[in-house]
This record gives sequence, structure tokens and C-alpha cells, in this order.
Amino acid sequence: MVKFSGRVRLTPGSDAKSKELMLKVGMVSLGCPKNLVDSEVMLGVLAEQGYELTPDAAQADVIVVNTCAFIDPAKRESIDTILEMAEYKKSGSAKKLVVAGCLVERFRDQILKEIPEVDFVIGTNELERVVEACGEAAGRRTPDEAAEPYLYHEFTPRVLSTPAYSAYLKIAEGCDHPCSFCVIPQMRGRFRSRRFASVVREAENLARQGVREITLIGQDTTSYGEDLGLSDGLATLLRELGKIPELVWVRFLYCYPNRLNDALIAAVAETPKAAKYFDIPLQHASGRVLKLMRRGSGATHFLRLLEKIRAAIPSAALRTSFIVGFPGETEEDFKTLLDFVEAAQFDHLGVFLYSNEESSGSYALPGQVAASVARRRQRKLLAVQRRISARKLKQKIGQTFPVLVEGPSSETELLFEGRLETQAPEIDGRVLINDFAGSDPQPGEFRWATITDAGDYDLVARLEARVFAERALPASTTPSRPRLVQIQPAAVGASV
Ligand code: SF4
Repeated sequence: MVKFSGRVRLTPGSDAKSKELMLKVGMVSLGCPKNLVDSEVMLGVLAEQGYELTPDAAQADVIVVNTCAFIDPAKRESIDTILEMAEYKKSGSAKKLVVAGCLVERFRDQILKEIPEVDFVIGTNELERVVEACGEAAGRRTPDEAAEPYLYHEFTPRVLSTPAYSAYLKIAEGCDHPCSFCVIPQMRGRFRSRRFASVVREAENLARQGVREITLIGQDTTSYGEDLGLSDGLATLLRELGKIPELVWVRFLYCYPNRLNDALIAAVAETPKAAKYFDIPLQHASGRVLKLMRRGSGATHFLRLLEKIRAAIPSAALRTSFIVGFPGETEEDFKTLLDFVEAAQFDHLGVFLYSNEESSGSYALPGQVAASVARRRQRKLLAVQRRISARKLKQKIGQTFPVLVEGPSSETELLFEGRLETQAPEIDGRVLINDFAGSDPQPGEFRWATITDAGDYDLVARLEARVFAERALPASTTPSRPRLVQIQPAAVGASV
């Protein structure tokens, strides 16, 4: 569950205090990259206090499980993980079990009541209390009133768990949209942005530490800065981050479709370092279902938006995700969605099954769709997308693109793998490298690659000797840093 893979890095401003024989802490992080950043902040705060971090649950004095509670499968995985980690406490190897994250926001009382091994719960606004939670003196924690909304800043210590060349950067927290299926606003609170200068400074710090690819995240990145009185905040931020010399790619995830405006498209088009990549979770295409989802809009408007992006940036990759089986979704609504997917020709697409969450606005809606029907719709949509993806990837054969080399393939040591600018970390396909000219491929280097073959979701390429962007200093020549804890993210839903 908890694995080692490299180094721990602290942001400047953090200062590991040497303390005698500190407790060892192990962390399991579940859910999305936003939760991963929270885990990295908790690890950073602990490392700053001198705690030793361990990837081995059996070695940990304290185990922290940072949970996800977005939908049912995520909740189940969170509970299973807590129970699995509770075994280490029962066997006596761990002294303390701490549960953090979204599950706590939804089920604070029940966790403490029903899982006696849990000593402490930490809500999403209480990340820095992890020190108190892990401390020797802390007793069993009873539920608290909700804490003040929390957002980390550029001086908050953070342990990066991603590869040395790539990092997520959270620019905002919470959400003000009223989507009826979503419980995130209840868990994460109202939308709030980090200060512009704080984000830029953190990006500069990360770049100085060797990060070459930054992925901006938040529940809705396209609203960035609105609460601070900035207009076109994300567009301005992107242009600013594009000036940081060491960075090669800056991308953002989670666009709300109605907020994706001309200024943002222009910023992506005109900023060479902005990845030509748009992730726009549309959730559905039928106007009727979108209205029930309290999102509005529909297929015609969405197609116009996609056309506008493609007209401005012909090389742009478009990713989206949909929910199938929403209450009241008819065969006709689903056909509208299928037709839309055929017309839109997305590069990447995820399909989630509707999860009927008790506290969501859609919970009591009539017309619940049978799970078997929802699964059939999911399969059908993914089959259509597989064909589209395969056709689009085939068109790339013979072309040359910059590739970020990530290291030996996870499937076989005989291959290396990497990503194009149009493939975001962890969610999209990859480039398998089966041949190379010049020096051996090194993780974190950007080289040109010629596409030689294509599958349904992955590409095969020959790496050229030509370098696209200088690599950060090899690990051995960078200042020595603590070790990195890599955390296993949960996989929920289906995505291609
Ligand atoms: S925009 Fe996203 S996070 Fe916000 S309510 Fe809608 S689905 Fe949830």
C-alpha cells in the first residue's frame, strides 16, 4: 500500500528539525491528485517536525490514511484501507491510526464510533493537525466543530510524492457550483483561490528543485481568482508560469465548461509552455439530463466550444468525462450522449457510473437507472471511444513530437515509457519507447520521438538523439534531500 520510490523534497522555508528518535509515520493516500497534494502537505509538515517517513506499513509507529469519499466505490476502498491498516495496530506494530480526508468530512462520528482502532480524525481543513494527531501525547480524538477553510501556501512544507520532474500544484480549493450529483462542496467548502503571488512562488520553487512539468489542479480551475477579484485569473496565471525558465510544460485540469472562455484559449495558444491540452468534464450531453444535474448547457453548445478550441489550437488534445445512469437518463438521452461523443471526437474520455450519494441533490430524484443498464451504457460509450482513440493515434504514426521520458515501462523492462504534451500524468495513455538513438533514455528528459506504431490508447515510438529541453540535474548532483514516499492512488471509474 505504501511504497518507496525516491526522495522526499521539502519546499524552501521548511526546516527539518532534528529530534531524537522520532516516530515513524506511514501514509496511504487515496483518491484524486487534489487529495494527493493534501497528503504531500501532511507529509511535509511531519517531515519538518522531524518525523521519519516510512513506505512500509509494518515499520510505521503511526499510520495515516488520507481517504476519498467522492462516490461509493471510493468510500468502500477508503473503509477497506482503514480496516487493513487497523490490522497493524491490532498486531501491535503500529501504535496509532489516523484517518484524514473526505471520508472524515462525511462520516466523522461514524468512523470514531464504528472503528475503535482509529485514534484521530482530521478533516480536509485541519491538515496541519496531523502533527498533533501523530504526537505521542495525543489521546483519542472526539469530533470537533468544522474548522476554518484551509488552503496551503508557498511556505507550507510539502513532500512531493510524484516523480522528481513533475508536480501537482493546487491553485484553489472548494467549489461553488451546484451540480446535483456532487457532494464535493459539502466536503471541501466554498470556492477559494490561493493568492496569485503564492502560486507563482511555489511554481518557481518547484522549478528550482527540478520539476519540469506542473499540473494545476482545483475542483474548478477555470474559476481561479474570481473570489480575489481577478478577471481571467487562470489565463493570467498560465502566462506568468510560462515565463519560468526551467519549466517545460504547464497544464491545468478540471475546467468547468461555461468558464472556459476566449481569454483562456488565447493564453494556451500563445504561451509556448502551456500544454495544448484541455480537460473539460462535461458530465453529459443531453440538455435534459444536464438540467437535472443542475449544470445546464447541452451538446450544441459544447460542440461549438470544442470547435473554437480546435480552431485556435489545432494540435489541442481534448479530454472529458461523463456520468451514465443519472436518475431519469432515458435511452434517448443516452443516444444523445453517444452521438455527441461520435461528433466531438475526444482524444481521451472517462465514463463514471452514477453513484447515488445520500446527501447529494440528486439522491431523491425519481427514475433511478438499474446498475446493469448503467454498466451497459458505460461499456458502449467506452467502445465508441476506443475506436475514436485508435483512429486518432494512428494518424500520429510517422510524426515527431517532444516526449517526456518517465523511465522503464511498468509492464516490461524491455521498454521505456513516456508521455506527449497531450497526455497528462496518470490519466491518459502513454508512449512506449522500443528503440532509441543517442544516449540511453533517462527519466525526466525531454527528447524528440518519432511515432512508429499505435494501439487503442498507447503509442509506440523511437526516441531520437535530439533533446527538446534540458533535463534537470541528475539526482546525484542535486542537494541531498530526505527520501520520497510514493503513495498509491485509488482507481475509481473507467477512463481512457
Ligand atoms: S463543478 Fe465539479 S466539484 Fe463543483 S459541484 Fe460540479 S462536479 Fe462537483
